[in-house]
Amino acid sequence: ATILGIETSCDETAAALVVRDEFGRGTIRSNVVRSQLDEHAAFGGVVPELAARAHVTYLDHIIAQACREAGIPLAQVDAIAATAGPGLIGGVLVGLTTAKALAAALDKPLLGINHLEAHALTARLTDGVPFPYLMLLVSGGHSQFVLVRGVGDYERWGTTIDDALGEAFDKVAKLLSLGHPGGPAVERIAKAGDSHRFKFPRPLLREARMDFSFSGLKTAVRLQAEALAPLADQDVADIAASFQTAVAEIVATRSRQALEQFASRFPGQDMRLVVAGGVAANQTIGTALRAVCAEAGATLIVPPIALCTDNGAMVAWAGAERFALGVHDGLEFVARPRWPLDLDDMKVRSDAA
Ligand code: ATP
Ligand code: MG
Ligand code: FE
Repeated sequence: ATILGIETSCDETAAALVVRDEFGRGTIRSNVVRSQLDEHAAFGGVVPELAARAHVTYLDHIIAQACREAGIPLAQVDAIAATAGPGLIGGVLVGLTTAKALAAALDKPLLGINHLEAHALTARLTDGVPFPYLMLLVSGGHSQFVLVRGVGDYERWGTTIDDALGEAFDKVAKLLSLGHPGGPAVERIAKAGDSHRFKFPRPLLREARMDFSFSGLKTAVRLQAEALAPLADQDVADIAASFQTAVAEIVATRSRQALEQFASRFPGQDMRLVVAGGVAANQTIGTALRAVCAEAGATLIVPPIALCTDNGAMVAWAGAERFALGVHDGLEFVARPRWPLDLDDMKVRSDAA
């Protein structure tokens, strides 16, 4: 089946065409993403109202471009998938309503996709990863471990009780005056820094639960920066490097724990840890995860970064996986600004079965 995927839940306006064959293999025929970095740059973060307006302005063109690049006219699409949440509601409504209009006009089924499910299933598109596997989602809005048992079948093992990891990178970048988005800037500057100079806290790490907390760490970074002000370039680099090392250690420790739990739940099963979200681009975190996986005998899967950050192909693919199981959503499908993955309503009630 050929699926159009639409993503507008945050600051990427994206559309893609993905084909899933009868063996469950996916091919990305086009994947067009327009990031709104310029719109939000002056504000040091995403402004929801501006994001929604930009989605309105660009989405039609992005969809047309996706069809053109794929060489597949809209009329030949089998179903239309759009992120229906979680995310900034104005943007979600733009994408979902556009998808509904197309579905009605073309008389094709609509698929309302949970954005987190789209992240969770991407590794099956890129690497054909079989169920079950463990996913670490680390983005601007989320930090969680999810056991992926099947399409629509998820168990959340840990989440952040305050800031997301990408958000922590962004806030640290802001207080070091490194600009937005902060992750790449912190990583770049950290290369020149001494990661041992400051011993920042590793919140919650002594506790058995698999949750994250990054706000105390961010505060510690702020206090350190204030204590040293005015900051020399070397101070900035050392703070960035020490912060990055602290988060890499936190993520590594939690991942080790999650893999242990996976091993005890599925004895003898091949272990796979899939990373999703923009923070997957971070090489210090990647190196730490590789070490943890090697030690635990697990395979680490990091899809290409363009598919780890928000994009339409992952939404199309999640739609393709659901469509293959007989799922069709109606035009009454409601957008959901909050939508945890591990709810029963994610479960696939297959008409086909
Ligand atoms: P969500 O998908 O949860 O709604 P989002 O759209 O903000 O949130 P992504 O687009 O997946 O998330 O990722 C963006 C985040 O990733 C930003 O917070 C950014 O700072 C962070 N990030 C990007 N590159 C790096 C890097 N090299 N190191 C650390 N963080 C990074
Ligand atoms: Mg984004
Ligand atoms: Fe995302």
